[in-house]
Amino acid sequence: MRALVKDRAGPGLRLCEVPTPTPAAGEVLVRVLRAGVCGTDLHIYRWDAWAARTVRLPLVPGHEFVGEVVATAAGTGGLLAGQTVSAEGHLVCGDCRNCRAAAPHLCPRTRGLGILRDGVFADYAVLPATAIWQHRPGVDLDTAALFDPFGNAVHAAHTFPLRDKVVAITGAGPVGLMTIPVARHFGARAVVVVEPSPHRRRLAECQGATITCPDSADLAGALRDLGRCDGFDVGMEMSGHPMALTELLAHMSHGGRVVVLGLPDRPVPTDWADISLRMLTVQGVSGRRIFDTWHQVTALLDAGIRPAAVITHHFPADDYATAFEVATSTMAGKVMLVWSTEPRTGGRT
Ligand code: NAD
Ligand code: ZN
Repeated sequence: MRALVKDRAGPGLRLCEVPTPTPAAGEVLVRVLRAGVCGTDLHIYRWDAWAARTVRLPLVPGHEFVGEVVATAAGTGGLLAGQTVSAEGHLVCGDCRNCRAAAPHLCPRTRGLGILRDGVFADYAVLPATAIWQHRPGVDLDTAALFDPFGNAVHAAHTFPLRDKVVAITGAGPVGLMTIPVARHFGARAVVVVEPSPHRRRLAECQGATITCPDSADLAGALRDLGRCDGFDVGMEMSGHPMALTELLAHMSHGGRVVVLGLPDRPVPTDWADISLRMLTVQGVSGRRIFDTWHQVTALLDAGIRPAAVITHHFPADDYATAFEVATSTMAGKVMLVWSTEPRTGGRT
């Protein structure tokens, strides 16, 4: 089978012919149909300091996908060949205090699919049955491939009540973009988006942003335009840029609530006295609630939210180099690698 392999420390990936893996007990073999390129994959592609200290080589990256079950081993429950599936990319231990207390999203032994275990940038992938999410019949393949990153957006948007709130989102990458319509659906009065890329600001407007601005220093102006001089009720940091978090905190109202989803690549100095005196709440958000968020994603799709609107490019897997180049630029929304055009069985579920 074809697989995109990171086999040496340094930038790039190689498209190689490798043996198709065999599922062990508790695992399924999935034929990958489409796989999204995520920021994590770009870190591995570029081989930055995070990737160099985290990833063990060789590795097949990739974790956002839709595929079709082609074989099951013993102990895989009701999973059957032909089912259209994705997988929760945070593989949890199932045995720690949090896993056993029905809070697996807080498992301290979480292993990332496509980071610490071979992922889905390949014709086939072997996955633990416990991580599989079975899609409904006839699911749109682009939408199905987005359940993981859309789940990040939905998890973040579910963190604090948004009804009648004035919300700021810093960063209109795919996750920030997908958060905008969810925040509107949850009743936010206004959603202000900070994003330096003009192309992504336009995408944010299409997603329903009330005001977009190129710089987090413009947040004060946006508040004035909204007649809200005291600050934002809810902030969502979705850029990973240290300055964005600092500016967002500075523009919160007293008692404001901030979700931190973005991952800064260095420590961010924070005025904790200011956080204390203004009684701000800061909540980290990682991944998705397993599998609550996946059900919430389904409910939001039923309510008419269309996350696939953030997909701007599809590339055949063989053209992965162009796909990664486009995904690295801020000219794109979500970039999809197409591994196979059609489910073999027509998507039995
Ligand atoms: P992305 O890198 O595509 O998007 C980030 C956006 O932030 C870009 O459009 C960039 O132009 C913009 N930006 C840069 N500097 C900014 C600033 N000062 N103010 C406002 N915006 C600025 O990433 P993504 O895939 O949308 O993910 C968003 C962030 O969330 C990343 O940091 C990513 O690593 C992180 N992430 C975290 C989780 C989690 O589980 N916590 C999951 C997915 C992604
Ligand atoms: Zn655990």
